[in-house]
Amino acid sequence: MDQIIHHLKNSNNVLLASHINPDGDAIASLLSMGFLLDTLNKQTTIYNQSPIPSMYRFLPSAQRIVRNINSGNYYDTAIILDCGDLQRIGKAAVEVNRIPVVINIDHHVTNTRFGDFQLIDDSACATTEILYRLFKEMAIPINLNNATSIYTGILADTGSFRFSNANRSAFEICAEMVALGVDPYDVAKHVYGTYSFGQLKLIKLAIESVEISQNGKLSLMTLTQGMLHETGTQPEDINGLINYIKNIENIKIAVLIQEQMNGKQKTTPPQQGQRFHVSLRSDKTVDVATIAASFGGGGHPRAAGFSIESNVIDLKKRIFSFAETL
Ligand code: 5GP
Ligand code: MN
Repeated sequence: MDQIIHHLKNSNNVLLASHINPDGDAIASLLSMGFLLDTLNKQTTIYNQSPIPSMYRFLPSAQRIVRNINSGNYYDTAIILDCGDLQRIGKAAVEVNRIPVVINIDHHVTNTRFGDFQLIDDSACATTEILYRLFKEMAIPINLNNATSIYTGILADTGSFRFSNANRSAFEICAEMVALGVDPYDVAKHVYGTYSFGQLKLIKLAIESVEISQNGKLSLMTLTQGMLHETGTQPEDINGLINYIKNIENIKIAVLIQEQMNGKQKTTPPQQGQRFHVSLRSDKTVDVATIAASFGGGGHPRAAGFSIESNVIDLKKRIFSFAETL
């Protein structure tokens, strides 16, 4: 941490990036790091390739997040947040490779330890927990806007204090953020309280797609581009749908297959190669980070994912074959 602090103080022009299809922690950690660099009077670009899900647009300074960046030659430092590997930021990985110093701040157990400096703690419930510790170490006061980000990052990554990473620190840090003025009711209203009619229709289609393995231990939900089109929803509206199938009784692994948009889509018959993102969630008995890593992805023991080129029939067959080993 000392080396990172030293480097941050000496940096001038910093690029912040987090993973595509960002969740609450990916967005909150970008914003929180942005506040830290503001305090140090650094020039900061906050980048994410994907649109910000509507429920996180209330976060103070969310409008600072841009979807395009200057050439990598423009920055002296990149800080990559909440990413197990550099490719997770998407297209900008090429530009980041040109930036002289890359700092990797993350809490994924599968982190590849890319970059020049790492601040990785897989026991942290969220990347915002690591940033909270960085603020403390640097003795930088946490203002209300920043407290809102730190609170929301922890809330999102612990599934509202329901997941196995909801530990003592999660509660202690959030209690401190509430003491600083964060209103849990207000945050919850934004994060959980609002959805469009299209999102409700998407939930219906998602639930209709659910299949359960013969032994009752694996649940599978499939979301296609057609469903998004039919309901007028966006990929970011899928956030959280996997939780419906994770909580079915006796389920050990929940799997969400998400068909990705790709250029070939209109002309490619559905049986041919198509890109999918696969999300995995598990109960305490299965380590899905290892399964995801075996497919070139990664994540946490209870929440992980990977991307794959396949056709939906083969992919489902492979997924149901996990179930037999459970
Ligand atoms: P999700 O299912 O929401 O896409 O991801 C669950 C967890 O796994 C998140 O912490 C996410 O960062 C991680 N994850 C998802 N897909 C990938 C991937 O392709 N590579 C890596 N390294 N991590 C992933
Ligand atoms: Mn995270």
